[in-house]
Amino acid sequence: MKRQAQPHPSDSDNPIIRMLQEELAETNRGLVALSMELEQRVEDRAAELRITQDELQRTNSDLLMLTMELEDRVADRTEELTTAIASLRQEIAERKKAEAALERYRDHLEDLVKERTAEAESAKWQAEAASQSKSSFLANMSHELRTPMNAILGFSGLLMGDEALTEKQRGYLGIISRSGQHLLALINDVLDMSKIEAGQITLDNHPINLTVLIQDIDDMMRGRITDKGLHFLVDQSAGLPRHILGDEAKLRQILLNLLSNACKFTHRGGIALRLGILPDVDASKLLIEVEDTGIGISPSAQSRIFEAFFQVGNAANERGTGLGLAISRQFADLMGGAISVESTPGKGSLFRVELPLECAEGTAMPLPLEALGDVIGLEPGQEGYRVLIVEDRQENALLLQTLMEKIGFEVRLAGDGAAGVELFRQFKPHFIWMDRRMPVMDGIEATRRIRAMEGGEAVKIVAVTASVFMEQRADLLSAGMDGIVNKPFRPGDIFTCMAKHLGVRFIRRATAAPPAPVGAAALGGLPAELRMKLEEALLDLDTARIAGIVEEISSLDSELGQILRQLTKSYQYTAIIQALEDTPPAGNSHDGE
Ligand code: ADP
Repeated sequence: MKRQAQPHPSDSDNPIIRMLQEELAETNRGLVALSMELEQRVEDRAAELRITQDELQRTNSDLLMLTMELEDRVADRTEELTTAIASLRQEIAERKKAEAALERYRDHLEDLVKERTAEAESAKWQAEAASQSKSSFLANMSHELRTPMNAILGFSGLLMGDEALTEKQRGYLGIISRSGQHLLALINDVLDMSKIEAGQITLDNHPINLTVLIQDIDDMMRGRITDKGLHFLVDQSAGLPRHILGDEAKLRQILLNLLSNACKFTHRGGIALRLGILPDVDASKLLIEVEDTGIGISPSAQSRIFEAFFQVGNAANERGTGLGLAISRQFADLMGGAISVESTPGKGSLFRVELPLECAEGTAMPLPLEALGDVIGLEPGQEGYRVLIVEDRQENALLLQTLMEKIGFEVRLAGDGAAGVELFRQFKPHFIWMDRRMPVMDGIEATRRIRAMEGGEAVKIVAVTASVFMEQRADLLSAGMDGIVNKPFRPGDIFTCMAKHLGVRFIRRATAAPPAPVGAAALGGLPAELRMKLEEALLDLDTARIAGIVEEISSLDSELGQILRQLTKSYQYTAIIQALEDTPPAGNSHDGE
C-alpha cells in the first residue's frame, strides 16, 4: 500500500524541526568558520611557501655561483698540478741522470781506491822490507863494530893490570882505552839513533836504586868536572824515593849526556845536578835538572839542539856526534816524560827532565856491577867448574879464556857450533859461553842440540852477543839459553852472570879505600839472631834489608853501626861476612862445652 504524504503542520512550528534547524544553522556557522579558518591557513601556507620558494631560488643561485667559482678553482688547481707534475717529471729525469753519473763515479772511485790501496800496500811492503834490511844492516854493523871493540877494550884492560909495564906504555894503553871507549860511545849513539828511527827501541823497566845510580853518576863525572877546575854540586831533595821503577840504562844515558854536555860547554863556575819530586795533579813526577854556568845557547839554537846532528859552532872541536840530546829527548818521550832547556848566552844553561814517577819501595835491589869490586879468584871449597867457550873469533875466545883461567876455571875452546856440541859430549862442562854467529853451526842451533843431549838440560848456556836488537834476544832465550851478555862486556858482567846462573862464589878485591876493621869484639857482642839476619841479608845482597839491620845494630852500638854503615856503603860485604864468621857470638864462648 502506498502511503500518502500527510500534510504536515508548519515546520517553524514544529519544535523538532526548529531544533533541527537551529542545530543545522549552528553547524552551518561552524562550517563557515572552519572553512574561513582553513582558507586562512591555506593562505598562510601559500605565503610561507612563497617565502621558501624565494629562499630556495636565492640559495639556488648562490649554489650556482659557488659551483662556478669551484669549477674555476679546480681548473686553476688542475693547471697548477699539471705544471708541477711536468716539472717533477723533469726533476726525476734529472735526478736519475745524476744518479747514473754518481754510480759511474762511485764505480770509478772504487776502482781508484782499489788501485791506491794496492799501491799503498806495495809501498808499505817496500817500506817494511827497507826497514827490515835497515834493521839487519844495523844488527850486522853493530856486531861487526862491537866485536873488535870488545877485543880492544878487553885486552887493554887486561894489559893495564900487568905490573911489568913502563909508565910510557901505561900512558899509551890509557890512550887506546880512552879512544876505544869514545869510539864505542859514538857507535852506540849512532846505533841508538838508528834504532829509534826504525822504531826498535823499547823500554826495559826494572826497579832502580836511585841512590846507587846517582852515586855512580857522581863517581863517573866528578873527576872530569873538577879536573876542569869546575864545582860539581849534586843535590837530592829529601823526599826522593830510594827505589823507582824505570829503564835504568836509558835514565843513566840521559843524565850522562846532559852532564857531559854541561862539562864540555862550561869553562868556569860549576855544574849542578838536582833531583827532586814535582807534585802533579794526577801523579808526582821525577824532576831532574842539570844546570851549568857555561857558554849558554842562543834562543835560535835552543829550538834546534834536540834535532839529530845539530851542533852550535865548530862541532869538530867538541868530539861529539850531535846526537846526545836527540837521543835523550827520544828516551824521555818513550818514558812518557819531557826534556826542555832554558839558557842565557854567556851565563849558562838549565836542562830540565820530567819523568812519570813510579816508586818501587821495598824491592830488593840487584847490586850494581861496579860495586862488587874486581873478581880475583874463586872462593875455596867449591867444586871444580868446567867452562866451555864456543866462539869463532880467536881474539874474543882468548879474552874470555884468559878471564876464566885467571880465576881458576878449567876451560876448553870450540871454534864453531858443531865443534861446541862435540866438545860438550866429551868435556861435560858446567857452563858454556856461546857466541851467536859462527860458521858451520850458529849458537842457536848448537844450543838446541846440546839441550837435547844427555846432561844438556842442566848445563848453563849464556849467549855472548853484539846484537842489540830485542827480538834477537827473544830468539836466543827461546832456543834455550839461560842468559845473554852483551859485547863489549866488562869482566864484572861476565862474573856476575856466572854467579847468577851457576851459583859460583868469587873472591873480590875491595873497591874503596880499606875499610875500618870491623870491631871483632863488638860483633861478638851482638845478639845471635841479629848476627844471623845480617849474614843472611849480606849473602842475599839485599841492600834495603842490610841497611835496615845496620840501623838496628846502630841503635845498640852506635860505633859499630858507623863502621858497618861505612863498609856497606862501599859494598864490602865479604869483609863483614868474614868478620862474622871469625867472631863467634859472645854467648857461645860461655855456652860451649
Ligand atoms: P853533542 O854534544 O854530541 O854535540 P848534543 O845533541 O848532546 O850533541 O848537543 C847538541 C848541541 O847542543 C851541542 O853541540 C852544543 O852546541 C849544544 N849544547 C848542548 N848542551 C849544551 C850546554 N850545556 N851548553 C851549551 N851548549 C850546549
